[in-house]
Amino acid sequence: MQDFLKTATILYVEDDEGIREGYTRALKRYAKELYLAKDGQEGLEQYEKHRPDIIVSDIKMPRKNGIEMVQDIRRENPQQPVIFTTAHSESGYTLEALELQVDGYILKPVDKKVLRNKIEQISKSLQLEKENEKHQAILENVLSSQSSMTILTDFETISFASKSFMEFFHLESIEEFFERYGQVTDIFIRHREYINGGTKEEFLKQYSATGEDNRVVSLIDGDFAAKAFKITINTIELEGRELYVLNLTDISKMQEKKIQAEHKAFYDGLTGVCNRNKFEEVFQAEFARAQRFGHPLSIAILDIDHFKNFNDTYGHLIGDEVLIALAKLIESHTRKEDCFARWGGEEFVLLAVEADLERAQKICEHLRTQVHTIDHEIAGGITCSFGVTQLQADDTLETIFKRCDDALYKARENGRDRVESA
Ligand code: GH3
Ligand code: MG
Ligand code: MG
Repeated sequence: MQDFLKTATILYVEDDEGIREGYTRALKRYAKELYLAKDGQEGLEQYEKHRPDIIVSDIKMPRKNGIEMVQDIRRENPQQPVIFTTAHSESGYTLEALELQVDGYILKPVDKKVLRNKIEQISKSLQLEKENEKHQAILENVLSSQSSMTILTDFETISFASKSFMEFFHLESIEEFFERYGQVTDIFIRHREYINGGTKEEFLKQYSATGEDNRVVSLIDGDFAAKAFKITINTIELEGRELYVLNLTDISKMQEKKIQAEHKAFYDGLTGVCNRNKFEEVFQAEFARAQRFGHPLSIAILDIDHFKNFNDTYGHLIGDEVLIALAKLIESHTRKEDCFARWGGEEFVLLAVEADLERAQKICEHLRTQVHTIDHEIAGGITCSFGVTQLQADDTLETIFKRCDDALYKARENGRDRVESA
């Protein structure tokens, strides 16, 4: 306790000169700085001038009594610590004094030990409070100087949010956050490429199940732009409660580069449609899914008829233009759950999910007639042959592609510009 004496400034207000002088020496030993006043009015003036940490005041005094003085001070600073010293003769003021809820009443004649203990106690809590504020300020400073965002949360309430977090969502207060969102998990976009969850449990489960490098969430900022953030979560225990420190680092820029690189790796440079890599990836996933759930799945290969002749006649550049036109046309007629890709050269593939052979044949038949609408200003039109097949229970990747190729061969054999199945 010794450490806390002499840490607070004290204002001592007492009209009785003898008493005042009697306690001044003692109070000087307890205070970092001591200010004196001989009535409430002077006390108020001293208060304005020095803003003391603690006020020790008599109650009954001329000009302004202690209660009136403290009422004035408390209007300005409701937290101002006050100790009243009272005599039995002042018991008429007791009720009013109680209403002020001061930090202590010491009966006169004041026992110096009691006074000392009281001052020590208040000094201690003031000191701890100051330290707390200092730590808080440092913490906020550190957190707000980082480009990443931090919140301290149990997912239903937010105990702390960094300035960057508030700015990202254009928030004035945490209350405003909860006017907009029911709970913290609501900010995370529901998308299979990002960690998300309807509840805290779901969210944390996904977080744990995701490898460290892939822990990415997507958030919509105050300007409605979607951004990608790397997320780390740490648990801390605070006052018996389990809290989570969520740290979010904007990786949108990095993500953009990754997306561009991915685009190159998965899309055909000439036509812009998916390439073989992408198709194989989608195909593997859909193939496994269809086999697991027994859903129908079909694939088709389409090949431009006599394209070598076409190139020989009109030149490679016009050949390219027609390839692009064909790819765009077919893609525009492809359902978004299906996958259309350039297989290589003048061959394309189409994966039709939830489509049995009959349905896939119809799709291809429709595409075949659509190809007739291509009308290049120099070279005119082209035709395509289609081979189509449906996934069988005992298929492997090789067998299904082999059958599809056989069907295409049949279409060529039977005169091209037609759909054949196998
Ligand atoms: P078939 O009717 O039997 O399919 O005959 P085809 O000439 O279409 O088939 P083949 O496999 O003999 O020749 C494919 C031609 O496709 C050869 C090549 O000139 C052309 N080709 C492949 N890739 C491209 C490309 O990127 N641009 C252009 N312009 N032509 C390409
Ligand atoms: Mg061909
Ligand atoms: Mg070919």
